[in-house]
Amino acid sequence: MIVGIPKEIKNNESRVGMTPAGVFELVKNNHKVYVQSGAGEGSGFFNQDYQQAGAIILDTIGQVYAMSEMIVKVKEPIEEEYDLIQKGQILFTYFHFASSEELTKAMIRQKAVCIAYETVEDEEGTLPLLTPMSEVAGRMAIQQGAKYLEKPVKGRGVLLGGVPGVAPGKVLVLGAGVVGIQAAKMAAGLGAHVTILDINMKRLRYVNDVMPPHVVTEFSNEFNIRRLIKTHDLIIGGVLLKGAKAPNLITRDMLKEMRPGTVIVDVAVDQGGCVETTRPTTHEDPIYIIDDVVHYSVANMPGAVPYTSTMALTNVTLPYALKLANLGWETACDKDASLRRGLNIVDGNVVYQEIIEAFGWEG
Ligand code: NAD
Repeated sequence: MIVGIPKEIKNNESRVGMTPAGVFELVKNNHKVYVQSGAGEGSGFFNQDYQQAGAIILDTIGQVYAMSEMIVKVKEPIEEEYDLIQKGQILFTYFHFASSEELTKAMIRQKAVCIAYETVEDEEGTLPLLTPMSEVAGRMAIQQGAKYLEKPVKGRGVLLGGVPGVAPGKVLVLGAGVVGIQAAKMAAGLGAHVTILDINMKRLRYVNDVMPPHVVTEFSNEFNIRRLIKTHDLIIGGVLLKGAKAPNLITRDMLKEMRPGTVIVDVAVDQGGCVETTRPTTHEDPIYIIDDVVHYSVANMPGAVPYTSTMALTNVTLPYALKLANLGWETACDKDASLRRGLNIVDGNVVYQEIIEAFGWEG
């Protein structure tokens, strides 16, 4: 198969759909790979790296789309790309169709085969192509939180690890899912005292089994949250209700209960956030302050570390990309139920029920 890797043209997106290691694997499997010149630069991969791995570099995005049977990307195509997409072309990328009717209609019109990273689902119901970005965001949340706890950026002036003779800082993690566990692990590694909350006892048991003793679990309820926010320096929001808006576990009135300079990193901002006062921010302007509480709520945290994020993403997408290239999309999806869940649009038809429901297209 001929596989194309265009440069991402969405604002502030520095990741790329495939690393040179991925190109190497595809070429080894007798596929041809076209990479747009400069596509990997934002992630630290240069044309020469791709050429050495066996890719052919093309100058323009138009050439990549025109000459490839499958496009492997990171973000959904934006308007400038719509007309470049050809009938029957496989697009393997994040789409998040339910949040854009315009994009959905464009892909229907172009009659592409759209396989969405975010709906590839394994037997346990987890989303393997979303997990790495939660891992990145969870770990980053502590890095960012530690930074904004510093006094010059309006934090409490607390060093998370403490020093001999001074107790460490306290981190409260809401949600013991992928984000929460990664955040707890990083905070524990710095020496902070960590409390992690969830409503799922299985998750809490797991955390209790694997984490060191200075990571403690508590059941998530309003009573406990109201008590704990008074004494914790850094609060991480990592709650998710599948397919729904995150619950507001911290309401506006609770901010007054926190000590001035407390930092909230609400990673769940992309689902509305689990703090009532959360609103999306950007890497250029990541924080704002309400009632002396610092809010950090960047909606695409992994975008700040494109090298790590690209590697983490392509580690999990490559096996599927290889399967698609080796077998063609129809056989690959027949043989692999996880990949089949990724099929969203085929030949002008939406085949993923949740998208149809999201737009009320039925009946
Ligand atoms: P996950 O499903 O692995 O974990 C969510 C956890 O929240 C689950 O363990 C669940 O039991 C728990 N939960 C549900 N209700 C709760 C409650 N009332 N109190 C406490 N815990 C509760 O999800 P995840 O992969 O960790 O993702 C968490 C959020 O982070 C999602 O909204 C995701 O989209 C978001 N995210 C944001 C970024 C970013 O850049 N901002 C990046 C990646 C992920």
